[in-house]
Amino acid sequence: TALIRKRLVIGNWKMHGARPTNATLLTGLCAGVGVAHNCEMVVCAPFPYLGQVSGCLHGSGIGWGSQDISKHQQGAYTGEVSASMLSDFGCQWALVGHSERRSFHCETDQLVAEKAAAALGAGITPVVCVGETQAEQEAGLTQEVIRRQLQPVLALGAESVAKLVIAYEPVWAIGTGLTATPQQAQDVHAFIRAQLTELNVPQVRILYGGSVKASNASSLFAMSDIDGALVGGASLVAEEFLRIAAS
Ligand code: PGA
Repeated sequence: TALIRKRLVIGNWKMHGARPTNATLLTGLCAGVGVAHNCEMVVCAPFPYLGQVSGCLHGSGIGWGSQDISKHQQGAYTGEVSASMLSDFGCQWALVGHSERRSFHCETDQLVAEKAAAALGAGITPVVCVGETQAEQEAGLTQEVIRRQLQPVLALGAESVAKLVIAYEPVWAIGTGLTATPQQAQDVHAFIRAQLTELNVPQVRILYGGSVKASNASSLFAMSDIDGALVGGASLVAEEFLRIAAS
């Protein structure tokens, strides 16, 4: 019997937001969340706004999380935010290893796995992002890159991996308007699923990310190994994000 993988749609605001526009967006999400009743929804906002997000979403059923997390527990790490600080005020989700952090902040595969472990240690669900660059894709290295990125994460062991979420985001599709075709995405998701199955955790959800919009969400979600989406730009408009979640 296959375990049911509930649809999950996560908004990644990236470095966007201001209190008045956040309030409008969050109010819109709360008002419309009913249309997406078969889907779990989460909003990942910049650290300073997490309090506002948590307050506005309270009681809505929509979850919220951070876009990063420190691998360290506490100490002299200026600018870092620990897992225990996040869980202290109810944070339940954290993106880790987003491609923008891997490329602009030199995050390594090993560091990403350590961040995932730190999140799990505080009861936070890490959403581990993986994905190949355009050059890697063109060189036929997609599977090799995904395998390498996942390796230290899978090495955390089945018990840990069972509690996390994986997001496949081809770097060439992020913010470019170039979405992977549903079949292209499905092929990579199936490749990831095979590794999860080997570890005996086939029920782990795998999200697709990269220019997901209301207009392409249904065709992506129709693929058997695509369990939801990690949405950047389109998560900044309530109606659009809700339409994706309702797809
Ligand atoms: P995008 O971003 O939807 O704007 O392409 C996705 C992401 O980076 O998570």
